[in-house]
Amino acid sequence: MHSSILSTYKRSNFSFVKGKGSYLTAKNGKKYLDFASGIAVNSLGHCNAELIKALYKQSKKIWHVSNAFQISEQEELAKKLVKLTFADKVFFCNSGAESVETAIKTARAYHQIKKKTKKFKIITIKGSFHGRTLAAISASGQKKLIEGFDPLVDGFVQVEFGDHKLIEKVIDKQTAAIMVEPILGEGGIKVIPNVCLEGLRKLCNKKKILLIFDEVQSGIGRTGKFFSYQWSKIKPDILATAKGIGGGFPIGACLVTNKVAKGMKIGSHGSTFGGNPLACSVANKVVEIISKKKFLESINEKSIFFLNNLERIKDNHSNLIDEIRGKGFLLGIKSKINNSILIEKLRNNGLLIVGANENVIRILPPLNVTKKELKIALKIIEKTCEDINKR
Ligand SMILES: *Cc1c(COP(=O)(O)O)cnc(C)c1O
Repeated sequence: MHSSILSTYKRSNFSFVKGKGSYLTAKNGKKYLDFASGIAVNSLGHCNAELIKALYKQSKKIWHVSNAFQISEQEELAKKLVKLTFADKVFFCNSGAESVETAIKTARAYHQIKKKTKKFKIITIKGSFHGRTLAAISASGQKKLIEGFDPLVDGFVQVEFGDHKLIEKVIDKQTAAIMVEPILGEGGIKVIPNVCLEGLRKLCNKKKILLIFDEVQSGIGRTGKFFSYQWSKIKPDILATAKGIGGGFPIGACLVTNKVAKGMKIGSHGSTFGGNPLACSVANKVVEIISKKKFLESINEKSIFFLNNLERIKDNHSNLIDEIRGKGFLLGIKSKINNSILIEKLRNNGLLIVGANENVIRILPPLNVTKKELKIALKIIEKTCEDINKR
């Protein structure tokens, strides 16, 4: 098909005309159970009635106003996020990459402006994903992301997942921070164990450097806590989030402590659309719903049911499935056959999911998915495995 869109995405021929809850309807009328959720974005499903109401109500009041003025919807959202987390201050932007960019700049400014040192290096994990801006691809260092974009942004050092000794060794006088995804999403749903997060915190304290969590994918209830780090005993200094926070409306946020915030001054950073009233009104509703204790508990309860059944399917089809990974509804199936084959077959059977590195398929249902829908998805996964094994 000829397209006038710059071809940066490998798109399937599918197009959808309608979404409702956990379902998407294709052009040909066929309905699909959507467990990709726009890659962990549609956290409350498609066209959620409460979100529609919040958006509509705001759309009649005010759409956009410059950050040169007070924006009450933004103020309210920041207060909510501060109350729910380690953070004292929030910066709003429009995407995950921008929230990561803000995190990087804030870490550098903390050392260079507040502490008057020249520290700038940030240590990251090989195979991680932080977005597509020049700094974000430089942070990740993945070959497929950086190819053709030289020169990269200086100051990022990647270490192998789990190589604790190397992390300590690469810290030098120029190191400003360590930045990790508590669960590597794009990288293949690889969970960093709590003890390791706690170890990173200790190391950062000892070396007087900052700890940054990229929770663009793992945040906003996705793992069954409001933020994934809340499964551990420790807190970061800076946290980047986006994807699920707007439930489909583009918005990102960078959360920081008072200590770190002191490096950022008036004029240090900005975003024309960041914290836009429409985006914040929707996000206020998303955060209000997802942060409720009962709602988070329901995610964990449904996740345990789903995981137990996935393990059972794995045991019955150990020639196809290597491992089940993840937490809450940030789940991965490490496939033994080419993951794109599995993704296509599942889609033909009515279940939409996305791939990840390391031959993993990602299962990211809306967080308000029903148990009935989970059962349908399990049936589809089981049937797909049976069909493959029949031949
Ligand atoms: C998706 C993602 C990003 C980038 O978000 P965009 O909104 O695409 O810019 C950054 N970090 C992580 C962990 C992500 O999953």
